[in-house]
Amino acid sequence: MPTLDMQTSDSSGAPVAADSAGKRVLLAEPRGYCAGVDRAVETVERALEKHGAPVYVRHEIVHNKHVVDTLTNKGVVFVHEADEVPEGAMVVFSAHGVAPSVHDLAADRGLRVIDATCPLVSKVHNEAKRFARDGYDILLIGHAGHEEVIGIIGEAPDDVQLVDGLDAVDSVTVRDESKVVWLSQTTLSVDETMQTVVKLRERFPSLQDPPSDDICYATQNRQTAVKAMAPECELVIVVGSKNSSNSNRLVEVALDAGAHAAHLVDYAEDIDPSWLEPAGGEVQTIGVTSGASVPEILVRGVLERLAEHGYGTVYPVATANETLVFALPREIRPDRR
Ligand code: SF4
Repeated sequence: MPTLDMQTSDSSGAPVAADSAGKRVLLAEPRGYCAGVDRAVETVERALEKHGAPVYVRHEIVHNKHVVDTLTNKGVVFVHEADEVPEGAMVVFSAHGVAPSVHDLAADRGLRVIDATCPLVSKVHNEAKRFARDGYDILLIGHAGHEEVIGIIGEAPDDVQLVDGLDAVDSVTVRDESKVVWLSQTTLSVDETMQTVVKLRERFPSLQDPPSDDICYATQNRQTAVKAMAPECELVIVVGSKNSSNSNRLVEVALDAGAHAAHLVDYAEDIDPSWLEPAGGEVQTIGVTSGASVPEILVRGVLERLAEHGYGTVYPVATANETLVFALPREIRPDRR
């Protein structure tokens, strides 16, 4: 079994051990579970404990294969839509949020709903409702087809337009150029989003900003940590699933920040040994991070796999300390006696 030599962090965010020779791993902090994912996964686990299997969950509770497989083995049944849940049964809505029509459908079927929507996604829903009520055109920057985006658009389908990337800006039309606001999906690239906003503002100079950042603290913090370490890395490995928006953004951010290569892996076994020896050379510094829906055990597996290849010394690169915790949904909170 290879050994991991975990070095201590200087917590400054500065690239650490820049002068150390030989193979090494830079480990981004923060990484992995955010407060919204932690809450959503614990909600399902507690629902199982309290009510027993099966517990139905609409869509993947969070976008991570390991989490979904583990919960499936414990008796969770993932469904695509609420009409697949037996009448009167319990259903959990995922962290990505749902449109009001989904609540209506669940009510029609008499389902017992536990809503695990992340409070930071609910914030964007509330902004969309408020600006729609006030007669604004809402330009939602996000990725077409993502569950979070579908849920937000569902709050005010006549008032929200999706802007999926820079090229989409040209086709935006609004009713009143003096009443336009942009909102965004919570898991986007901060830099790309701001480029889109700049282009939107060229077309609509009165464009209003959201009341507060829609790209959430966890997305921003993970991108900042990757930016700090990527310039020193020949290779960055992002642990996360292919359908995880924030994990995919970490790959892009790593490449933009100077990493020679960056790859997304679900598991340690997905690491291709050829990544460690590009063009006959040998990678010296590997950056490792993980998306907001990734349990730490998967990162540990990646570090152990890298140690087998001689990358046993690990230096944390810390750029933020996260302490945010969300209360569990009311329906699942422990009784206070
Ligand atoms: S990534 Fe952000 S918005 Fe999404 S669940 Fe985590 S904290 Fe909430």
